[in-house]
Amino acid sequence: MLRLRQFSYVYHRNILRSMATAPGNNDDSTLPPNETHPIKRTLKLFQKDGRTIKKFFKTSFTKATSNNESQPMQHINLKKNEHKEYTGDFQSHCDILVIGGGAVGSSIAYWLKSKARDGLNVVVVERDPTYKQASTVLSVGGLRQQFSLPENIEMSLFGADFIRNAKDYLGDVDLSFMPYGYLTLATEKSAETLKRNSMMQNGLGARNEILTASQLKSKFPWLNTDDIVLGCHGLEKEGWFDPWALLMGLKNKAKINGAHYIDGEVVNFEFNKDSDVVIRGNEHSSESYVGLDRAVVKLSNGETRSIKFAICILAGGANSGQIARLARIGTGPGLLGVPLPVEPRKRYVYVINTQGENAPGLCTPLTIDPNGTYFRRDGLCGNYICGRSPSESAEPATDNLDVDHEYFETDVWPTLSNRVKAFESLKVCGSWAGFYEYNLFDENGIIGPHPYYINMYIATGFSGHGIQQAPAVGRAISELIIDGQYRTIDLTRLGFDRILVDQPMLETNIF
Ligand SMILES: Cc1cc2nc3c(=O)[nH]c(=O)nc-3n(C[C@H](O)[C@H](O)[C@H](O)COP(=O)(O)OP(=O)(O)OC[C@H]3O[C@@H](n4cnc5c(N)ncnc54)[C@H](O)[C@@H]3O)c2cc1C
Repeated sequence: MLRLRQFSYVYHRNILRSMATAPGNNDDSTLPPNETHPIKRTLKLFQKDGRTIKKFFKTSFTKATSNNESQPMQHINLKKNEHKEYTGDFQSHCDILVIGGGAVGSSIAYWLKSKARDGLNVVVVERDPTYKQASTVLSVGGLRQQFSLPENIEMSLFGADFIRNAKDYLGDVDLSFMPYGYLTLATEKSAETLKRNSMMQNGLGARNEILTASQLKSKFPWLNTDDIVLGCHGLEKEGWFDPWALLMGLKNKAKINGAHYIDGEVVNFEFNKDSDVVIRGNEHSSESYVGLDRAVVKLSNGETRSIKFAICILAGGANSGQIARLARIGTGPGLLGVPLPVEPRKRYVYVINTQGENAPGLCTPLTIDPNGTYFRRDGLCGNYICGRSPSESAEPATDNLDVDHEYFETDVWPTLSNRVKAFESLKVCGSWAGFYEYNLFDENGIIGPHPYYINMYIATGFSGHGIQQAPAVGRAISELIIDGQYRTIDLTRLGFDRILVDQPMLETNIF
């Protein structure tokens, strides 16, 4: 299912329509009723058309320059008197509206402004500038290429390049990248898959090695390898970094390049009918296309304003499914009947400390047990952070971010203490919870255009591996908007269309 992108067509149709409906331009009323001489009549018509064309372009130019913008996209479907004055930091219209200013939304703003500079007016709406519940700042900041889908591997390879060269991209930032790799452990059952994936990862540019149980034991003496057949150890481009620093780096650079951030929450959309747009898959519907026109934003002072956009990008993290519903995605007719399958899923992170003998040292990789329990070092004082995703039937409620301490006792600690003897005696010295922006369909990012709305793009649903992919996702969305196609990593298979045709992109390495 593809949709027809008709921006230039719509744009031209609108110029023609505006000219045709300009006062006095839709009939011959300005001609004297008795003017019958054909040459005089033609000359008068030319004079009148000349005035109308001049007036039209003068008005368009004034609208564009009064807001320091020069992008034609901004004028798609603009009707008379729709511009309002700026008040404070609020812009009443923009070329690109990004909903959500977390790592993904800020990366999109960063890439768009790095490439287009003043050519695109980019506005990011973020409901919580403190980011206290944003997944980005509650994540553990892991970066790995140990995936099974080429798209995920390639996005994370670029993530590694971006993070290792952050100063070139973002200026003077310190992302505290700890390049200690990942170590994924496999039992008999999962060993073949681990080997196959490792070959593909290395073929695409990752660098990891497969180790047997005895090789694991000699390299990581603290590891219990009794039930382990193989391990995959990342040698380069893997580790963890500071998610907050990445977010601030992207956001600040986007702002320096001219992106505007609005402190507010998108609470609704306004729509407009456009009979010029035909959506493939909806051709037989008697209904005209009804497009997205404006977002209704509730500002931090409680005031509600609307902002008109040429294109909007949905990057609302765990709240993306809810925002999509405001746009009638999942509740409308035809293609709009298919929901965006993204919802919050609570995940706990525990901070532990052990002073036990033979504890994993400073260069310990982020280690993942075959059942998904993970741990990594955190700082220099014997602290580690760890966690495990609950089973589908034990998913906790998502109306709060409280931590379940019993879950550590029953589901995390037994695995930790079995794998590492030093974890038999440990102290839990901290914990937090955050929301995965969980894609119920296949636990992978949903990236690209919406199949019905010609001016909406989606970038969400990363389900626990989005922070490392944020740089690549931002770049990818900027390519779609500026170049009209993917130029670096082809992410077509991760588009919304896969949900329509029921083709999940399953990833075997998700925790
Ligand atoms: C415990 C935990 C561990 C993780 N570990 C890793 C890891 O090791 N590696 C990895 O790559 N990823 C990890 N992740 C996943 C990663 O954090 C996310 O995939 C990523 O941060 C998603 O970024 P985002 O910008 O889409 O979402 P967010 O950071 O949540 O940003 C979305 C923003 O949208 C805003 N928003 C929502 N609704 C609206 C609205 N209506 N109007 C305006 N603004 C709105 C929110 O306030 C929020 O700031 C982890 C996540 C968690 C919870």
